[in-house]
This record gives sequence, structure tokens and C-alpha cells, in this order.
Amino acid sequence: MIERSLASEVQFLKGVGPKNAKGLNKLGLFTAEDLLFHVPRRYEDRRHLPPISQIQPGQWVTVKGRLTNVDARPTRGGMVILKALVRDGTGSISLTWFNQPWIKRQLEGYKGEMIAYGQVKENQRQLEISSPEWEILTEEDDPEEFARIVPVYPSTEGLQQKVLRRGARAAVEGYLNFVVDPLPASLLREEGLRELQWAIGQIHLPDSEADRLEARRRLVFDEFLYLQLSLAMRRAETQQELGIAFPIESLKAGKPATARNLTLDTRLSTGKDAAVQALRPTGSHLFADQASYKRDEEPLWEQIRDMLPFELTGAQQRVIEEIYSDMEAPHPMNRLVQGDVGSGKTAVAACAMLAAVRSGYQAALMAPTEILAEQHSVNLRRLFEPLGIEVELLVGKLSAKEKKRAGERAQLGLAHVAVGTHALIQEGVSFANLGLVVVDEQHRFGVLQRKALRDKGLGNPDVLVMTATPIPRTLTMTLYGDLELSVIDELPPGRKPIKTHWKQPSERASVLDAVRALIEQGRQAYFVCPMVSESEKMLAQAAEDLHYRLVNGEFSDLRIGLLHGQMRPREKETVMEQFRQHELDVLVSTTVIEVGVDVSNASVMVIEDANRFGLSQLHQLRGRVGRGEFQSFCVLVAEAKSEDARQRMEIMTGTNDGFKIAEEDLRLRGPGELAGTKQHGNLDLKIADLVQDGRMLEVARQAAIRIIDADPVLGRPEHALMLEKVRLQRSDQAVITVS
Ligand code: ADP
Ligand code: MG
Repeated sequence: MIERSLASEVQFLKGVGPKNAKGLNKLGLFTAEDLLFHVPRRYEDRRHLPPISQIQPGQWVTVKGRLTNVDARPTRGGMVILKALVRDGTGSISLTWFNQPWIKRQLEGYKGEMIAYGQVKENQRQLEISSPEWEILTEEDDPEEFARIVPVYPSTEGLQQKVLRRGARAAVEGYLNFVVDPLPASLLREEGLRELQWAIGQIHLPDSEADRLEARRRLVFDEFLYLQLSLAMRRAETQQELGIAFPIESLKAGKPATARNLTLDTRLSTGKDAAVQALRPTGSHLFADQASYKRDEEPLWEQIRDMLPFELTGAQQRVIEEIYSDMEAPHPMNRLVQGDVGSGKTAVAACAMLAAVRSGYQAALMAPTEILAEQHSVNLRRLFEPLGIEVELLVGKLSAKEKKRAGERAQLGLAHVAVGTHALIQEGVSFANLGLVVVDEQHRFGVLQRKALRDKGLGNPDVLVMTATPIPRTLTMTLYGDLELSVIDELPPGRKPIKTHWKQPSERASVLDAVRALIEQGRQAYFVCPMVSESEKMLAQAAEDLHYRLVNGEFSDLRIGLLHGQMRPREKETVMEQFRQHELDVLVSTTVIEVGVDVSNASVMVIEDANRFGLSQLHQLRGRVGRGEFQSFCVLVAEAKSEDARQRMEIMTGTNDGFKIAEEDLRLRGPGELAGTKQHGNLDLKIADLVQDGRMLEVARQAAIRIIDADPVLGRPEHALMLEKVRLQRSDQAVITVS
């Protein structure tokens, strides 16, 4: 007699046996515990199934009837269509599958009852479900078992629901009492949650819809809680680490002494930052040539006012203060700044960098593309050069010699600010005294790993991540839960909201006329090419085609440039510069312009085949216009035949609010489809759903923060089991590094 435990192999569970166990193993289910935590995907309420005669096309239904005919036919295209006809006393429905010979083998010769689930269509006056889920009902099937809310599990080809159900039932009946609840009873009481054993029992075999929901609530909470605990722990760990304490108060007061003389070495000699010493790159020099840097004694905020050509918005000021208070703390900053396109993140970053440089440190800005790095360097030079702050651009197109020189200037501390692409700054350069890293992520998710910086010998600088993608709050909490969050929720004054129109391809001529009229008023225009495929080559081809059509057609008299990812960096840069200088009227481009390009005279964007883009991406693209004083327009050219496509176009024409758009995107497409989140381990949720469980996520996050505040390493005995779960969670998490 083998002793029972959660680790018991599935083959020993009642009614499973070695043959079924093989199937379960294929799905990664090896133990009783695996089965208990294999949660149903959906349920069928088989207490009342509709008679076939009452079924309407379009409905998702479960039908039950007798199998009367099975028929397999090859099609002209070389496929095999399998049709099965099912009847009850009231009518018949046809089930069809394509190319699934194993279903034919199972159904042929069977004359009993079966169940099918799917969406009903009408095909030549015959009700039909195509590719239904199905099962046959044999004599061994317990009628009691049948007439209830039946779980439907995630499965795999050839593994029948019946086997999964039998396994789950056996696990619940024989092993549930081995499950120990990791959550302390006090927490359950506070959150009004049921015990784990009860929840697992009810998630597999719910007594009622209400119980099922209650059970799900508990399991969703658990899933979110472990994730949030792991994020909160990581946050707490960073807060324990030693970083740089920038003398912000002194800078604000315009007290030069502390700011001016504060160097790594003096800090080390006072023993203040012992951790920094260990991390210091060897052979570094500290601002060897400090004379070139005008260390004036102007109070920080006054200097900012003088430096910027505009007044900061209230939101910008608030976020800058949040950043300063992090910089001042003796721990590394880990902050995410979220702000819609055009909210003025660059100015915020510049203020952070200014404080770092005035404290005697270097700052680096990493951009996702060379074009953007280039543009940042242009903007920052304009702000910083009058102050004597040297900005160095580090991008791939530099010659080896130029790179070497730029690298040396960074290493010697002659460059105060280095701007470049992620790869270059992370791999190519060492710094004398790096104090602040700003990561301009735009819409590429992926948090810079502090560890990666340290491994590259870049010390333990403060890190500021800026993202232009308005991410729904639920996603932010899951993806970036270990960062502090600042939101720039206000646009600079005087912006005229972009007017967005949706046009049919047949209206192209009038669209071109309207664009021409704006160009004649002195404005510039973007044309964004269709997203023909993921391949850069094909995208480039599409851009070239469109460019050719315009140059040789309607716009033959205008100055038209072309920009795509397959061009050499130098060519790209030349075109961008020409567009910036208004030597071009029109820029035909792929999505390479979606990130950060800032030409305020460009006031119209035409997006071709707009329904091929995601909503957030359209919003990013659209953000390239409306950056100046002119009324700007965005024209979405799209056929948008499907209901979903139509909805998407209407959302875009209806709002300019990036957060609203992101919420809609999440609702329509699910988190996996949102830009760049696909590979993110944190989104691999088993039960919880970021769209419908947003509130629960918030609850779990608050609970996690409370728990970690009281017990930062989960060292208390009553937290031991939670810690185990969190550890599992953390080892599961994909480590994302900046690519
Ligand atoms: P994003 O947040 O999209 O990166 P940018 O930093 O590129 O936005 O700023 C968009 C434009 O708005 C730039 O031309 C910038 O000079 C301008 N800008 C930023 N802040 C302000 C402000 N407070 N008042 C007026 N214009 C501003
Ligand atoms: Mg920007």
C-alpha cells in the first residue's frame, strides 16, 4: 500500500490507471496536486440543455443528442471534412471538423449519445457547429455526474475531458485534505476569502454558480498575491540597497559647496556609500576636466526655468519632485514615468539629468532606436550646452574612431551626458561616474535590469524608465509592480486635440486633396504604410511602393522623402534631418517613426490600411502630429469590414486619451496581444484575467504591500508557506533585459 500524499502519481488515483495517466502526463499532470491545481477553463451547466429545435444561429451552446451519421469527404483543396449528424427528439444539428482523422476513428461505428459545444451557424438551412468540443456518453457515465455544472479543462489532442474529469474528481475526493492553506487565517478574514480546500473543491465540482465564483475569487486572489508579493519583495530589496544620495536640497538652495565638491571619492572617504566603492569601475577618473562644466550656483528650480523654453506643467513639476525625492534618498531609484505621447517626458528627464550632473555625476539616456537617440541628443544639447554640460551621442553609425573618442570622453568624465541606443550604452561604454540612467522605452516593455547594469560594471546608478505607452493600470501593476510609478497626466497647454477621421480606401483622392491643402499652407505630412507583415523587408517594400506611387502620381510636384528600417543609419538620419528642416513636404514611412519623432510643423498623418495596426500603435503613430501650435489631423484609411475592426476605428476617432485607448485595446485583444508583452513571464496567469479581475489585482497588491511592509523577507513562521509559493513564482519569471 503506497501512502497517499499530494505527490501521489496520477496513475494510482481512483479510476485513472496507467493508460489514462499517460494522457494526463502529456499535459504536464503527474501528481494529485497537479490535478487539483489544473483549473477548469469553463463550465457547462448541463442541468438544463436546450432542445435542438430551440437553438438559434449565432449562439454558443451545449447540445446533447444521438449520433446518427458520420461521413468523411475530401475537399478539392486536399482537406478532409468530417461531418457528424446529431439528433434529439426535436431536430438535428451537424458537427464538422477539418483534417482530424483521429475523431473519425473515435466516432465511426458509434451510435450512442454525445455532447457538443460550440458556436452555431446555419449552413443551407441546417444548424451546424464547426470544430466543436465534444464527448461521447457511454454506459459507464454516471447520470448524476452528468446533470450538474460540469467543468471543462484545458486539454490536449486526444486527451478526453472525461479522463480529466475523472482524475480531478478522484483528486478532490481522495487528496483535498492534504492541501495546506498557505495564507494565514487572519488574512483570509480581512479579505473575506474562503479556505483553499473549499475553493479547490468548488472550482472542480461547483455546487452552484455562486460557489464557483466564490471559489474562483479565492484562487484569483492567490495568483495575484504571489505575483505581487514577489514584486513587493523585489522593491523592498532595492530600497535596502545602497545607492547615491544626490544632494538635491543643496542644489535647490543653490548652495554650491556640497554640490560642487561632492564626488565619488569624497563620498567614499566619508564612508557614506560603502556599497558604491565595491561597484566602482576600476580606473575611473572623476570629472578630470571639471573646469569645462559651469557649476553655477543658481538654485536648481531657477536654473530649470532658465534652461527650458517653456513653463513646466503642474504634472511635470510634480513628477520631477517625485524623482528628486528618490534621487535624494541613499537608495537606488527605480521609477517608471508614464506619460501619454506629447506629455513632455523629455523635459522631465532633462531635469533629472541636470540634478545628477550638477551633483558631479554623469547621466546616460538610452533610447530604443538610433533616430530617437539622435533626436534626444539634439534636444538635450540645446538645453544643456549653454550650461556647459557636454552631451555625447553614441550610436552605431559613428565611425570606429568617433566611437572610440566618445567612449573615452565618457570614461574620462569629459562627457557629462551620454545619449545612445540601449545596446551601445550597455555594452560599449564605461563611465567615470555614472549616477543616473534614463531609459526611454517608448512602447517596448521590458524593464532594465539593475543587475545587468552592475554586471556591465556601470555601478548602481539611479534608474528612471520612461514609457509613452499608456498601459492600463492592471498591466502596469503586473509588469512594473516593482517600480515606483509617476504619471504625467496633463498635456502642455495650448495643444489642439488631434482631429482623427476614418476614410474608406475609395475616398483616397479627397484625402490627398486635403493633405495637399495643408501642405500649401506650409505644413508637412506623414504617410504611414500598411503593416503588410512583420518582416522589415516587406515593410520596406510597401513603403517604397507608396513612395513611388506618390512621387509619380498625385504628389509629383511635392518634395517627398522615404524612411524605413532597411535603410542605412546615415540615410535615415539624413532624411529625418531634411524633414526637420522642412526640406521635405511629405515623409513616407513605416512604423519606424512611431517612436518619439518630434517635428512640430508636421500637422497631418495618413495611416494606410489602418485596421492592420493595434490601437496603441495607432495612438503612438498619431502622436507624431499635434506637437505644435497647428490644428493637426490624422486620417485612418481602412476598409474595416469586421465588427471588431469597425469598433477599433471608432475608438480612434472618438478619443485622444491614450489610457482609454489602452484599456480598450486590452479589452478587445487581451494582454498577450498588447505591444511587446507577449514574452513577458509575469503575464502567464493561469486563472486570473487582467481584464475582468482588475479590482482583485488591486486588492491583492494592497495586501502584498501590507505584508511586505511588516515582514520584508517573509521570515515569520506564519508566512513560511507563502514564501515558498513566492519563490516558485520568482523562479518562473522570465528575466527581461533590454534588447
Ligand atoms: P513625450 O512625452 O512624447 O516624449 P516630448 O518630451 O517629446 O513628449 O514633448 C513633446 C513636445 O512638447 C516637445 O516639442 C516639447 O518641447 C514640448 N513641451 C514639453 N513640455 C512642455 C511644456 N510644459 N510646455 C510647452 N511645451 C512643452
Ligand atoms: Mg519622448
